[in-house]
Amino acid sequence: MTEPTMTVLSLGAGVQSSTIALMACDGTLPKPDAAIFADTGWEPRQVYAHLDRLAVELGQAGIPLHRVSNGNLRADAIDPAHRYASVPYFVRNPDGSAGMGRRQCTSEYKLVPIKRKIRELLGATAPAFRRVPKGRVAEQWIGFSTDEIHRVSDKLDVLYLTPRYPLLDLGMSRKDCQRWLERRGWGDTAKSACIGCPFHGNRQWRELRDNSPEEWADAVEFDREIRKGGSRGMPLNGEAFLHSSRIPLDIAPIDKVTRGEWRDRQGDLLDLIEDGDPDGCSPYGCRSGGAA
Ligand code: SF4
Repeated sequence: MTEPTMTVLSLGAGVQSSTIALMACDGTLPKPDAAIFADTGWEPRQVYAHLDRLAVELGQAGIPLHRVSNGNLRADAIDPAHRYASVPYFVRNPDGSAGMGRRQCTSEYKLVPIKRKIRELLGATAPAFRRVPKGRVAEQWIGFSTDEIHRVSDKLDVLYLTPRYPLLDLGMSRKDCQRWLERRGWGDTAKSACIGCPFHGNRQWRELRDNSPEEWADAVEFDREIRKGGSRGMPLNGEAFLHSSRIPLDIAPIDKVTRGEWRDRQGDLLDLIEDGDPDGCSPYGCRSGGAA
């Protein structure tokens, strides 16, 4: 196996990758040669503010932060002429049955620009940055914690990348990361995800509605706009929704259910409805495809 010529951190700006970034800044971990954040253009203000704060720490530690993008997911998702932006909407088919849109957004808006940047850093030439010079390999740090071990894959789809999981090496869970961040004054680090991600649970929708009215209004508007399809590939016959109930977001049942109602229902499924995808949107843990 070729020895890595550089180390890059895939920085999603959520709990786990922020922990790695700050550990690299304080010397707990060695410094990577670069950190890369893939911007879908539709993260909440809180995430961008967190990223700006991280950028200062990284800058002081001498770790370059690259913000990369493959377009604006929100704009592309409602552009009928656009090729990508296939978002995993909840779909009601014309016969009333339930369906789900394909999740390609993570790959197109996160994996693709991150890999392009890594190829560039490894010496691939402009404008396409396709071909990495022979013998150049990047060790890519990915923020999977011990509770996400199921996301680890040995599958290598490109020869210029070799993955490493610093939190697994340290035996740290997501909770450990949260505690570590809290002790250092970063306790408000949030899960990073697009404002209108269908994987939000009710808790995230409520937080958006109650604490970020403008972003909530944006998500409600977007939910209306996708009803009859968006970018190419969306079903034109069915109806698409952001909320799992397949009800318009502004009237969807996102408020808390009573204790009695909880008792009457099963645990796991409702946990998912309440909390959303527990793992958030990791570029390297996309459920629509294999980890890369
Ligand atoms: S946060 Fe949601 S909408 Fe955004 S890229 Fe990830 S899966 Fe797609």
